[in-house]
Amino acid sequence: MIHPASETGLQSVSLAFSFCSMPDPKARQPENQPGRYYVDTQCIDCDICRETARRNFTRETQTGHSFVYKQPVNAQEEQLCQEAMKSCPVQAIGDDGEGQPNVNVRRAGLP
Ligand code: SF4
Repeated sequence: MIHPASETGLQSVSLAFSFCSMPDPKARQPENQPGRYYVDTQCIDCDICRETARRNFTRETQTGHSFVYKQPVNAQEEQLCQEAMKSCPVQAIGDDGEGQPNVNVRRAGLP
């Protein structure tokens, strides 16, 4: 049996996240590398994607959000990007699907 207080808590969490919409390709963070994956402006800077897919996500320190600094180049990175996307609490990570041209441009100061 579910305790009434626990149920209420779950409903609150569910309600809070119900305001989050799907990733919006028109609201991409400008720092994203062009390609399949992107972070949009809903990012709350929680760090989950950066911890999950360290080779692909990093932090923009001035305004505090994540972005894709390198599109995945192998199956392992692809899997970790998928995991990061599924773990994002606000659905801020988008996936345009296979067939997107990935353009990885090396940026100064980034790994
Ligand atoms: S997991 Fe989502 S909310 Fe958290 S830092 Fe990454 S993109 Fe932002």
